[in-house]
Amino acid sequence: MNKTKMIIGKKHKKCKPHKINPGAVVTEPGSSIINKTGSWRSLRPEWDKKKCTQCMSCWMYCPDCSIPVLNNKRIETDFEFCKGCGICAKECIFSSIVMIKEKK
Ligand code: SF4
Ligand code: SF4
Repeated sequence: MNKTKMIIGKKHKKCKPHKINPGAVVTEPGSSIINKTGSWRSLRPEWDKKKCTQCMSCWMYCPDCSIPVLNNKRIETDFEFCKGCGICAKECIFSSIVMIKEKK
């Protein structure tokens, strides 16, 4: 056994994994559909259809799949799931999306 393996071995002996409480366990698949992240939003992406070239960058980068596509074109943002992160506005090189303050 080389020196590196011996060090790891010693640390491992001190560790008692059976005493660690389980956490961050996803017990049911598809829970992100139930958790409507739109309620987190303090900013909202405002989309200007006239400036949009349908390049689909916003769709590709949106972390919440909140930009629906119909007939190969993006349509209005799904505000039930859009959390207002602003990534789409940052990625749109045609300035077709601006972030505005959310009205509650
Ligand atoms: S990134 Fe901008 S131009 Fe491209 S599809 Fe989205 S809104 Fe339209
Ligand atoms: S603000 Fe964020 S979550 Fe909302 S559509 Fe843009 S990229 Fe998606």
